[in-house]
Amino acid sequence: MAHTLRPAAPTAASADTAGQRAVGGIINNGTTDPNKILPLRYQWAREYYRSGVSNNWVPEEVSMQKDVEQWKSDSVLSETERRLILRNLGFFSTAESLTANNIVLAVYRHVTNPECRQYLLRQAFEEAIHTDTFIYCCDTLGLDPEQIYTMYRTVPSINEKDEFVIGLTRSIFDPTFATDSIEGIRSFLHDLIGYYVIMEGIFFYAGFAMMLALRRQGKMVGVGEQFEFIMRDESVHLAFGCDVINTIRNDYPEAWTPEFGQQISALVRQGVQYEQEYAFDSCPQGLLGINAVQFAAYVEYIADKRLERIGLPKEYGTPNPFPWMAQTMDLNKEKNFFETRVTEYQTAGALDWD
Ligand code: FE
Ligand code: MN
Repeated sequence: MAHTLRPAAPTAASADTAGQRAVGGIINNGTTDPNKILPLRYQWAREYYRSGVSNNWVPEEVSMQKDVEQWKSDSVLSETERRLILRNLGFFSTAESLTANNIVLAVYRHVTNPECRQYLLRQAFEEAIHTDTFIYCCDTLGLDPEQIYTMYRTVPSINEKDEFVIGLTRSIFDPTFATDSIEGIRSFLHDLIGYYVIMEGIFFYAGFAMMLALRRQGKMVGVGEQFEFIMRDESVHLAFGCDVINTIRNDYPEAWTPEFGQQISALVRQGVQYEQEYAFDSCPQGLLGINAVQFAAYVEYIADKRLERIGLPKEYGTPNPFPWMAQTMDLNKEKNFFETRVTEYQTAGALDWD
């Protein structure tokens, strides 16, 4: 493609003031100094940054004492529960660093808007905290790192998820890749949707539901709390990612054709299938009062929310089998309120809490 793409002129609905129109968009921002963060163009990026800061935590704040006792005891955890815990630690231990690499090596390069980059730095830090969380879990529980950190190759249901996301993003790791053509923008959207919508928005959620279901039964409550902290961070990552995707879609309407939308819906359906296979593989016998069919239904419910968030129609219409997952996040917000942390100032609908 010979011509260089520039974002479409801002619409009345966007947050621009007339004086800022010249600065360009979220990508292909060749006219702006990436170090000049003020005045802000995308206020939401700043709000997500502040939201991340107010959620600050580190894994050492969570006591693992009870988890260690339960893990070492022969009478607390069933074989099914042990399998589920190991599978989830195995998946997340490497998924977090895959996500971190994508932010630093791909997304940061092409999202040239300074306040979005500021949020990406925050997100990269949070991914480092998440990676560290699984090191902490391995250390405290005395797990075999060789077993946990090779599951992305040895466990097919984990390998399939990782390979799927990596496959969606391969083209943008080409050093000559640029977003200056419609094809380039579509490839970049594939990357953003692969990581923000499918990896962080769908592939993390059967695991979150499993570990939080276990915690509700009083099992591995420390690991459960770590997962809850991660889920709170991830809900902001997901919201930021969807805003970036929707902004690019708005700025380059010619990239997001009806056919492209259908391709994305098909990718999400494929992702849902992988996540459901993962749920059945991790929890073949179910947990007390919960079976893998419900985990699979939860994945469909979550996927519909993600699709709507990026302006695509629902695919499933499945009701939420776990209303307590949303309550978990609501309680968290209340807890933060009493700790005088501010997590609730986002406008309604800005965050996907479950
Ligand atoms: Fe993470
Ligand atoms: Mn994340």
